[in-house]
Amino acid sequence: MEITVAKMAGFCFGVKRALDITFDLAKNSQERIYTYGPLIHNPQVVENLKNEGVDTVDSLDSPDINTIIIRTHGVSPKVYVETSKMGYNVIDATCPFVKKAQKFTQELKEKGYQVIIIGDRHHPEVQGLIGFAGSDVVVVDDTDQLPPLKNKVGIIVQTTQAFETFERIVSHILRYTREVKIYNTICDSTSQRVGETKELAQKVDLMIIVGGKNSANTNQLAKLSKDVCAKVYHIETSDELDETWFHNVTNVGITGGASTPQWIIDAVEYKIKEISVRR
Ligand code: SF4
Repeated sequence: MEITVAKMAGFCFGVKRALDITFDLAKNSQERIYTYGPLIHNPQVVENLKNEGVDTVDSLDSPDINTIIIRTHGVSPKVYVETSKMGYNVIDATCPFVKKAQKFTQELKEKGYQVIIIGDRHHPEVQGLIGFAGSDVVVVDDTDQLPPLKNKVGIIVQTTQAFETFERIVSHILRYTREVKIYNTICDSTSQRVGETKELAQKVDLMIIVGGKNSANTNQLAKLSKDVCAKVYHIETSDELDETWFHNVTNVGITGGASTPQWIIDAVEYKIKEISVRR
Protein backbone atom coordinates (compact mmCIF):
# COMPACT_ATOMS: atom_id res chain seq x y z
CA MET A 1 0.00 0.00 0.00
CA GLU A 2 1.26 3.47 -0.78
CA ILE A 3 0.72 5.90 2.07
CA THR A 4 0.86 9.70 1.61
CA VAL A 5 0.72 12.09 4.55
CA ALA A 6 -0.36 15.64 3.66
CA LYS A 7 2.45 18.18 4.22
CA MET A 8 0.07 20.61 5.94
CA ALA A 9 -1.40 17.98 8.32
CA GLY A 10 -1.31 18.97 11.98
CA PHE A 11 -0.90 22.09 14.08
CA CYS A 12 -1.27 25.46 12.41
CA PHE A 13 0.67 28.55 13.50
CA GLY A 14 -2.08 29.78 15.86
CA VAL A 15 -2.46 26.47 17.68
CA LYS A 16 1.34 26.02 18.05
CA ARG A 17 1.61 29.52 19.46
CA ALA A 18 -1.23 28.97 21.98
CA LEU A 19 0.26 25.66 23.14
CA ASP A 20 3.76 27.15 23.52
CA ILE A 21 2.33 29.99 25.63
CA THR A 22 0.34 27.56 27.80
CA PHE A 23 3.01 24.88 28.33
CA ASP A 24 5.61 27.60 29.15
CA LEU A 25 3.27 29.14 31.68
CA ALA A 26 2.45 25.75 33.23
CA LYS A 27 6.16 24.90 33.53
CA ASN A 28 6.91 28.11 35.41
CA SER A 29 3.81 28.22 37.60
CA GLN A 30 3.28 26.84 41.11
CA GLU A 31 -0.53 26.97 40.82
CA ARG A 32 -3.07 25.40 38.45
CA ILE A 33 -3.87 27.44 35.36
CA TYR A 34 -7.25 27.65 33.62
CA THR A 35 -8.28 28.00 30.00
CA TYR A 36 -11.65 29.56 29.20
CA GLY A 37 -13.12 26.67 27.18
CA PRO A 38 -10.83 23.92 25.81
CA LEU A 39 -7.61 25.53 24.54
CA ILE A 40 -7.94 23.69 21.23
CA HIS A 41 -10.49 21.21 19.86
CA ASN A 42 -8.50 18.05 20.49
CA PRO A 43 -9.42 15.88 23.51
CA GLN A 44 -6.01 14.14 23.67
CA VAL A 45 -4.12 17.45 23.87
CA VAL A 46 -6.58 18.80 26.44
CA GLU A 47 -5.90 15.67 28.54
CA ASN A 48 -2.11 16.24 28.26
CA LEU A 49 -2.57 19.82 29.38
CA LYS A 50 -4.52 18.62 32.42
CA ASN A 51 -1.58 16.43 33.42
CA GLU A 52 0.66 19.52 33.21
CA GLY A 53 -1.61 21.52 35.56
CA VAL A 54 -3.90 23.24 33.04
CA ASP A 55 -7.66 22.83 33.51
CA THR A 56 -10.60 23.96 31.39
CA VAL A 57 -13.40 26.11 32.82
CA ASP A 58 -16.64 27.06 31.09
CA SER A 59 -17.60 29.74 33.57
CA LEU A 60 -15.61 32.75 34.76
CA ASP A 61 -16.85 32.77 38.36
CA SER A 62 -14.90 29.79 39.70
CA PRO A 63 -13.22 30.66 43.04
CA ASP A 64 -10.11 28.65 42.03
CA ILE A 65 -9.13 30.88 39.09
CA ASN A 66 -6.16 33.20 39.38
CA THR A 67 -4.60 32.94 35.91
CA ILE A 68 -6.87 32.38 32.91
CA ILE A 69 -5.88 31.80 29.28
CA ILE A 70 -8.00 33.03 26.38
CA ARG A 71 -7.86 30.36 23.67
CA THR A 72 -7.01 30.63 19.95
CA HIS A 73 -10.67 31.21 18.98
CA GLY A 74 -10.81 34.48 20.93
CA VAL A 75 -13.67 35.89 23.02
CA SER A 76 -16.13 38.78 22.90
CA PRO A 77 -15.16 42.15 24.49
CA LYS A 78 -17.50 41.51 27.44
CA VAL A 79 -15.30 38.58 28.56
CA TYR A 80 -12.30 40.94 28.87
CA VAL A 81 -14.45 43.29 30.96
CA GLU A 82 -15.59 40.44 33.23
CA THR A 83 -12.09 38.97 33.72
CA SER A 84 -10.75 42.42 34.55
CA LYS A 85 -13.54 42.96 37.13
CA MET A 86 -12.66 39.61 38.70
CA GLY A 87 -9.00 40.72 38.95
CA TYR A 88 -7.70 37.69 37.02
CA ASN A 89 -4.29 37.51 35.43
CA VAL A 90 -5.36 37.18 31.76
CA ILE A 91 -3.06 35.56 29.20
CA ASP A 92 -4.41 36.18 25.73
CA ALA A 93 -3.59 33.32 23.31
CA THR A 94 -6.09 34.45 20.66
CA CYS A 95 -4.64 33.68 17.22
CA PRO A 96 -3.42 36.93 15.58
CA PHE A 97 -5.56 36.09 12.50
CA VAL A 98 -8.67 35.90 14.68
CA LYS A 99 -7.64 39.20 16.33
CA LYS A 100 -7.52 40.75 12.86
CA ALA A 101 -11.04 39.50 12.09
CA GLN A 102 -12.22 40.97 15.41
CA LYS A 103 -10.61 44.34 14.56
CA PHE A 104 -12.28 44.41 11.11
CA THR A 105 -15.64 43.50 12.67
CA GLN A 106 -15.40 46.34 15.17
CA GLU A 107 -14.35 48.78 12.44
CA LEU A 108 -17.39 47.79 10.31
CA LYS A 109 -19.71 48.32 13.26
CA GLU A 110 -18.18 51.74 14.05
CA LYS A 111 -18.55 52.85 10.42
CA GLY A 112 -22.27 52.00 10.47
CA TYR A 113 -22.26 48.78 8.43
CA GLN A 114 -24.65 45.95 9.22
CA VAL A 115 -22.19 43.13 9.93
CA ILE A 116 -22.73 39.75 8.29
CA ILE A 117 -20.57 36.93 9.65
CA ILE A 118 -20.28 33.89 7.38
CA GLY A 119 -19.68 30.92 9.66
CA ASP A 120 -21.08 28.53 12.24
CA ARG A 121 -22.99 30.54 14.86
CA HIS A 122 -22.20 27.94 17.55
CA HIS A 123 -18.43 28.02 17.00
CA PRO A 124 -16.52 29.93 19.73
CA GLU A 125 -14.67 32.10 17.21
CA VAL A 126 -18.00 33.28 15.75
CA GLN A 127 -19.45 33.77 19.25
CA GLY A 128 -16.50 36.06 19.97
CA LEU A 129 -16.92 37.99 16.69
CA ILE A 130 -20.63 38.53 17.40
CA GLY A 131 -19.58 40.52 20.49
CA PHE A 132 -17.66 42.99 18.27
CA ALA A 133 -20.39 43.30 15.63
CA GLY A 134 -23.30 45.34 17.01
CA SER A 135 -26.95 44.48 17.61
CA ASP A 136 -28.00 44.08 13.95
CA VAL A 137 -25.39 41.35 13.26
CA VAL A 138 -26.41 38.44 11.03
CA VAL A 139 -24.68 35.02 11.12
CA VAL A 140 -25.20 32.66 8.18
CA ASP A 141 -23.58 29.62 6.65
CA ASP A 142 -25.83 29.51 3.60
CA THR A 143 -27.78 31.94 1.42
CA ASP A 144 -31.23 30.73 2.52
CA GLN A 145 -30.53 32.05 6.04
CA LEU A 146 -30.08 35.67 4.90
CA PRO A 147 -32.81 38.07 6.14
CA PRO A 148 -33.70 41.27 4.19
CA LEU A 149 -30.49 43.33 4.39
CA LYS A 150 -29.77 46.99 5.04
CA ASN A 151 -28.25 49.22 2.32
CA LYS A 152 -24.80 49.22 3.88
CA VAL A 153 -23.42 45.77 4.64
CA GLY A 154 -20.00 44.59 5.88
CA ILE A 155 -18.93 40.97 5.52
CA ILE A 156 -16.54 38.95 7.70
CA VAL A 157 -15.87 35.22 7.40
CA GLN A 158 -14.88 32.65 10.04
CA THR A 159 -11.14 31.94 9.62
CA THR A 160 -11.71 28.22 8.97
CA GLN A 161 -14.65 28.55 6.57
CA ALA A 162 -14.52 26.97 3.08
CA PHE A 163 -13.78 29.59 0.39
CA GLU A 164 -16.59 28.21 -1.84
CA THR A 165 -19.20 28.93 0.87
CA PHE A 166 -17.82 32.46 1.35
CA GLU A 167 -17.82 33.09 -2.41
CA ARG A 168 -21.38 31.79 -2.86
CA ILE A 169 -22.86 33.90 -0.04
CA VAL A 170 -20.94 37.04 -1.05
CA SER A 171 -22.17 36.76 -4.69
CA HIS A 172 -25.73 36.44 -3.43
CA ILE A 173 -25.44 39.51 -1.17
CA LEU A 174 -23.95 41.59 -4.01
CA ARG A 175 -27.17 41.11 -5.98
CA TYR A 176 -29.34 42.66 -3.25
CA THR A 177 -27.28 45.39 -1.54
CA ARG A 178 -25.93 48.74 -2.79
CA GLU A 179 -22.86 49.20 -0.56
CA VAL A 180 -20.85 46.15 0.47
CA LYS A 181 -17.48 46.03 2.24
CA ILE A 182 -15.88 42.58 2.27
CA TYR A 183 -13.05 41.25 4.41
CA ASN A 184 -11.77 37.81 3.42
CA THR A 185 -10.62 36.66 6.87
CA ILE A 186 -10.15 32.99 5.94
CA CYS A 187 -6.61 32.24 7.14
CA ASP A 188 -3.90 31.06 4.72
CA SER A 189 -3.24 27.93 6.76
CA THR A 190 -6.89 26.90 6.25
CA SER A 191 -6.87 27.62 2.49
CA GLN A 192 -3.63 25.68 1.95
CA ARG A 193 -4.74 22.71 4.06
CA VAL A 194 -8.09 22.55 2.25
CA GLY A 195 -6.44 22.78 -1.20
CA GLU A 196 -3.91 20.07 -0.38
CA THR A 197 -6.57 17.76 1.12
CA LYS A 198 -8.80 18.05 -1.97
CA GLU A 199 -5.88 17.26 -4.24
CA LEU A 200 -4.77 14.25 -2.18
CA ALA A 201 -8.31 12.86 -1.71
CA GLN A 202 -8.81 12.83 -5.49
CA LYS A 203 -5.74 10.66 -5.99
CA VAL A 204 -6.21 7.95 -3.34
CA ASP A 205 -8.65 5.04 -2.74
CA LEU A 206 -9.05 5.82 0.95
CA MET A 207 -8.60 8.96 3.07
CA ILE A 208 -7.98 9.00 6.80
CA ILE A 209 -8.77 12.33 8.47
CA VAL A 210 -7.21 12.63 11.93
CA GLY A 211 -8.47 15.07 14.54
CA GLY A 212 -11.01 15.95 17.21
CA LYS A 213 -14.62 15.08 16.37
CA ASN A 214 -15.40 18.54 17.84
CA SER A 215 -12.93 20.32 15.54
CA ALA A 216 -14.68 22.43 12.87
CA ASN A 217 -11.74 22.45 10.46
CA THR A 218 -11.16 18.67 10.80
CA ASN A 219 -14.85 18.02 10.07
CA GLN A 220 -14.54 20.31 7.05
CA LEU A 221 -11.60 18.23 5.74
CA ALA A 222 -13.68 15.04 6.13
CA LYS A 223 -16.65 16.61 4.37
CA LEU A 224 -14.74 17.86 1.34
CA SER A 225 -12.79 14.58 1.05
CA LYS A 226 -16.12 12.71 0.86
CA ASP A 227 -17.03 14.79 -2.20
CA VAL A 228 -14.11 13.34 -4.18
CA CYS A 229 -13.12 10.05 -2.49
CA ALA A 230 -15.35 6.99 -1.99
CA LYS A 231 -13.85 5.85 1.34
CA VAL A 232 -13.23 8.46 4.01
CA TYR A 233 -12.85 7.85 7.76
CA HIS A 234 -12.54 10.53 10.44
CA ILE A 235 -10.70 9.24 13.52
CA GLU A 236 -9.25 10.83 16.65
CA THR A 237 -6.51 8.26 17.33
CA SER A 238 -4.91 5.18 15.76
CA ASP A 239 -6.99 2.92 18.07
CA GLU A 240 -10.00 3.55 15.83
CA LEU A 241 -8.33 2.17 12.68
CA ASP A 242 -10.03 -0.99 11.40
CA GLU A 243 -8.03 -3.39 9.24
CA THR A 244 -11.10 -4.30 7.12
CA TRP A 245 -11.22 -0.72 5.76
CA PHE A 246 -8.02 -1.44 3.81
CA HIS A 247 -9.20 -4.44 1.73
CA ASN A 248 -8.52 -3.80 -1.97
CA VAL A 249 -6.97 -0.43 -1.16
CA THR A 250 -3.75 0.52 -2.97
CA ASN A 251 -3.32 4.21 -2.10
CA VAL A 252 -4.04 5.78 1.29
CA GLY A 253 -4.00 9.50 2.08
CA ILE A 254 -3.68 10.87 5.62
CA THR A 255 -4.34 14.41 6.76
CA GLY A 256 -5.05 16.11 10.06
CA GLY A 257 -6.81 19.23 11.28
CA ALA A 258 -5.13 22.39 12.61
CA SER A 259 -5.50 21.11 16.18
CA THR A 260 -4.16 17.58 15.60
CA PRO A 261 -0.74 16.89 17.17
CA GLN A 262 2.03 15.37 15.04
CA TRP A 263 2.45 12.39 17.42
CA ILE A 264 -1.14 11.26 16.76
CA ILE A 265 -0.66 11.58 12.97
CA ASP A 266 2.64 9.64 13.24
CA ALA A 267 0.94 6.86 15.25
CA VAL A 268 -1.80 6.59 12.59
CA GLU A 269 0.77 6.38 9.79
CA TYR A 270 2.76 3.75 11.72
CA LYS A 271 -0.30 1.56 12.31
CA ILE A 272 -1.36 1.75 8.64
CA LYS A 273 2.18 0.71 7.67
CA GLU A 274 1.82 -2.32 9.99
CA ILE A 275 -1.51 -3.21 8.37
CA SER A 276 0.12 -2.87 4.94
CA VAL A 277 2.94 -5.26 5.89
CA ARG A 278 0.48 -7.90 7.18
CA ARG A 279 -1.49 -8.00 3.92
S1 SF4 B 1 -6.60 27.89 11.70
FE1 SF4 B 1 -5.71 29.89 11.14
S2 SF4 B 1 -6.92 31.37 12.33
FE2 SF4 B 1 -7.29 29.37 13.25
S3 SF4 B 1 -5.77 29.22 14.89
FE3 SF4 B 1 -4.86 28.28 13.06
S4 SF4 B 1 -3.67 29.94 12.08
FE4 SF4 B 1 -5.10 30.88 13.53
